[in-house]
Amino acid sequence: MIDFHTHTPSWRTTSWLGGVAFGVDDFVAFMDGAGIEQAVVLSHDGLFDPSPTTNDDLAAFVGEHPDRLLGFGTVHPRLDGAAAEVERMMGPLGLRGLKLHPWLQGFSMHEAGLDPVCEVLAGAGGILLSHDGTPPYSTATQIAALARRHPTLQVVLGHGGLHDTWREALAAVVETENLYLCICGTPPYAARAILAAAPPHKVLFGTDAGLSDRTSQDYAVARVQEIDGWGITPAQRHAMLVDNPRALLAGPR
Ligand SMILES: [Zn+2]
Repeated sequence: MIDFHTHTPSWRTTSWLGGVAFGVDDFVAFMDGAGIEQAVVLSHDGLFDPSPTTNDDLAAFVGEHPDRLLGFGTVHPRLDGAAAEVERMMGPLGLRGLKLHPWLQGFSMHEAGLDPVCEVLAGAGGILLSHDGTPPYSTATQIAALARRHPTLQVVLGHGGLHDTWREALAAVVETENLYLCICGTPPYAARAILAAAPPHKVLFGTDAGLSDRTSQDYAVARVQEIDGWGITPAQRHAMLVDNPRALLAGPR
């Protein structure tokens, strides 16, 4: 299984999100226990401090187990050099994509500064994963508008709309060819509705492992176990956990 939404430990930031400084080997041991072969890893500290330093920290973390951990760095579109930093992330740092958190990082997906960032990312074959589900910033329709402006970029809704906007997330994924959806923190009744109606190749799964206030990732293990309660078919399960993330990470069709 590929977990499309996990986080690094928090090394520099204490926040209401929790976050502790667990080691990479502890994290891989959690993955082994939960049956997760590969994980997309997003920065924790970068949510609050989208700087080259947090991308360096992320690259060093995933670089310990490059066959298991795939890093997505972050930038703030209003900072000088954001597009150049994406180039550095996708080149020397060996990262695989970009994570944006418009709600915590404080910007709109309609800002012009995102266009050069997305152009560089698309040119490097990277994936954009955005936090979603917490208006006013980070709604699926805002993210879908950015995806439509950059049709060669593969864009992922990181949370499937959460509790408040999953219906909008589902509609946006149905309507927007290069938009995908990760069920992560999405409530089970919404996960069932999404699986019933979304294009089958567009559904991914994530645990948000790493955001815990403890070194153990118990709640992420519980999220993996919860999948069985969604009424999911074996074909849907295999697509969501293996085929879809693998195809997305392999690059644009
Ligand atoms: Zn997250």
